[in-house]
Amino acid sequence: MKMMIGRKRMKIKPGSLQTDLSVLQRKSSENVMENEAFREFLRLREGPLDSLVAELNAEVTKLIDCTSCGNCCRSLMINVSTDEAVKFANRINKSLSEIKADYLEESIGGQLVINTIPCHFLAENKCTIYADRFEDCRAFPHLDKPGFSQRIFGTLMHYGRCPIIFNVIEELKQRTNFTRQ
Ligand code: SF4
Ligand code: SF4
Repeated sequence: MKMMIGRKRMKIKPGSLQTDLSVLQRKSSENVMENEAFREFLRLREGPLDSLVAELNAEVTKLIDCTSCGNCCRSLMINVSTDEAVKFANRINKSLSEIKADYLEESIGGQLVINTIPCHFLAENKCTIYADRFEDCRAFPHLDKPGFSQRIFGTLMHYGRCPIIFNVIEELKQRTNFTRQ
């Protein structure tokens, strides 16, 4: 049986967000079972989840300073399309082969990826090529896209990494009246 659950509309208080990466990492281990139950809870839920997640994402993103974090750039493998690599090479007056030699490698699946983690272009938590950053960088943490229910497994993989994801998920638990484990 599917459940229809009410939605409380309250603004997130700035001081209520968790941005300490060591706390996120600890909570990520502690909340494995709870997050699995939440995933199942959302699977059975009816109602507009995408708009709620997008709304929470907008609220949380406004309150979190990514330049104080930079954890995605320090820990994720970033895909780069050939078109992006060509565009970037032109932008910095290098050839594609120079860009590939300096910054990229091919993954096992043949996809171009940035060849260092943390990323070459990160300095003091800031992207030094921000205006030219790649689509994979721009899209993270993917909370403003449709189809959240189909992507929740992937989103939860970054629960302990990204303060935006962590706080959106925690707020989503409250606003959907999920019973914590
Ligand atoms: S290119 Fe910029 S935004 Fe993308 S991972 Fe590197 S530092 Fe981060
Ligand atoms: S997107 Fe998430 S992990 Fe990346 S810098 Fe912003 S808060 Fe940190």
